[in-house]
Amino acid sequence: MVDVETRRLPYVDDALQERLRCDSLGHAWDLISDDWTPSVGVAETCRCVSCFKERRGAVDPFTGVRLTKPRYKNPPGYRKYDKTQMPSRSEFRLMLLNLKNKTGK
Ligand SMILES: [Zn+2]
Repeated sequence: MVDVETRRLPYVDDALQERLRCDSLGHAWDLISDDWTPSVGVAETCRCVSCFKERRGAVDPFTGVRLTKPRYKNPPGYRKYDKTQMPSRSEFRLMLLNLKNKTGK
């Protein structure tokens, strides 16, 4: 449950609170250099410009269809939510709106 005064979740620490943009709006992917070679197709390697998480997958070079399910590589210190305490989309949205009100961003 969100604290109505701070719009923060009491069980979510500062490191996770900083990921609110990604958790609320989704990652902001940008293509980066490939440092791997897929067994099929061509590599598609992306990094989130906000949290630096990486996504890797193989793509058909002629159709653009994804040939593999994306694999994710977390940056050092990246924590996952405890599934039993995962905030809802609405809770994420409230926290992000509160952060925007505080910082103007
Ligand atoms: Zn992200």
